[in-house]
Amino acid sequence: MSTTIPHWIDGTRTTGVATRTSDVFDPATGEVSGRVVLADQADVDTAVESALKASVAWGESSLSTRSRVLFKFRQLVDDHRDELAALITAEHGKVLSDAAGEVQRGLEVVEFACGIPHLLKGEHAEQVSRGVDAYSLRQPLGVVAGITPFNFPVMVPMWMFPVAIAAGNAFVLKPSERDPSASVRLAELFQEAGLPDGVLTVLQGDAVAVNALLDHPDVSAVSFVGSTPIARHVYARGTAAGKRVQALGGAKNHMVVLPDADLDVAADAAVSAGYGSAGERCMAISVVVAVGDVGDALVEKIAERTRSLVTLPGTDPRAQMGPLVTGVHRDRVRSYVDAGVAEGASLVVDGRDYAPDGHPNGFWLAPTLFDHVTPEMSVYRDEIFGPVLGVVRVPTFEDAVELVNANPYGNGAAIYTGDGLAAREYQRRVHVGMVGINVPIPVPMAYFSFGGWKDSLFGDTHVHGAEGVRFYTRAKAITARWPRQHGIDLGFPTHG
Ligand code: NAD
Repeated sequence: MSTTIPHWIDGTRTTGVATRTSDVFDPATGEVSGRVVLADQADVDTAVESALKASVAWGESSLSTRSRVLFKFRQLVDDHRDELAALITAEHGKVLSDAAGEVQRGLEVVEFACGIPHLLKGEHAEQVSRGVDAYSLRQPLGVVAGITPFNFPVMVPMWMFPVAIAAGNAFVLKPSERDPSASVRLAELFQEAGLPDGVLTVLQGDAVAVNALLDHPDVSAVSFVGSTPIARHVYARGTAAGKRVQALGGAKNHMVVLPDADLDVAADAAVSAGYGSAGERCMAISVVVAVGDVGDALVEKIAERTRSLVTLPGTDPRAQMGPLVTGVHRDRVRSYVDAGVAEGASLVVDGRDYAPDGHPNGFWLAPTLFDHVTPEMSVYRDEIFGPVLGVVRVPTFEDAVELVNANPYGNGAAIYTGDGLAAREYQRRVHVGMVGINVPIPVPMAYFSFGGWKDSLFGDTHVHGAEGVRFYTRAKAITARWPRQHGIDLGFPTHG
């Protein structure tokens, strides 16, 4: 039975006025499980108007009030972890334990945002001139928007809205139309925590809603996470409309394995980071760079582990990997595997013809491994965003660094080695935003900031942590004097 997935505007579920909808699937069965409404210009206007109204009172609320609401929201998300994880698995397909991990990482941003009274403290300098003090403050922007991808329907929105709302803004979230239900549930929980209506809006939609938000004069800033072509578009259109924009894009993350590395540890890491969440993570490892003579032994160990992985519906407790998000996406990933074969990469493990018993129509593609991948091949060049891992062999450490740096993406990169000096050199020289040393997926904790370089981020601010607080606020510097004497002085002020 298919349900209608609504917007959340002004504190209520509503289907708005637009008539377009988009199918939402259960990826394990391939069946349509719901239809999400797609906003048009009128729905966007209604949502932003509600947010603008709410932003005034919320921006005036005390820091303690905001902090208390966030603490309560934190508790409610914690209490509803399993329900949220189940919503993620139902529409995204990832295994339940992975979905629960995503809820946990989102929750950590709420915990960071609970400290907003401390995070918004400005600076103060007394007596910058005789009888004059100077200080700075940060104020909310008003209405800010977030546009998020399908692959983390809870965590990525929670990278944004807890910080934006704690800072005193109203937030309009435009989630992915492929797995839109969890956002509405999060908004309901935030309302239950005491958040005034209109402060968090969930606006369901596609490019029409995104472009209307980018053009809307009452939206002051836009956070975007998604693929690189759309990130580039969002950054260009949003900044042309005078908005502050941070647009995080796609990735091709390399894991370099040096000859001295423990190959069992490295193989475990490559398989976990390559196939976790079916490779649908922006920090997934998609390229293993085997340095020197480690190639044969490493590929053998990765292949052995890859063949042993269990791909089943995400709700099955035996599942290590679930299906891909949609049939269209699965077909695209499969076409990359076909292209890799045609281009001459060695297909070591082929996951193309797989479906578990009882689920013939799910969006399946089992873990797939290529060896002897070269930089000209499309399996190397493009972000595949599926369970396809490629091994590139290079002779030296220098070649490995050169390969990572020549790639247009710059999200994350890892190195496996027991040599601290080599790791330090790698950390200094790679052109990416996040580096893992014997850690395959180096996602920063909530109190650091997340973001890549090059084609993985447009704009100059990373999300959450201190950079998130800065993005959602603007600074004011105040110079104050309380004079007892008067007198005209046309000179340029100096500091006597
Ligand atoms: P996507 O770019 O297709 O969609 C992201 C958002 O943009 C969605 O809300 C979608 O509705 C909207 N959108 C899609 N087409 C649009 C258009 N033409 N105009 C305006 N808006 C449009 O991305 P996706 O497939 O949902 O997510 C996967 C991508 O996200 C991957 O490339 C992945 O690397 C990236 N991602 C990056 C990060 C990061 O932190 N850098 C994190 C997660 C995902």
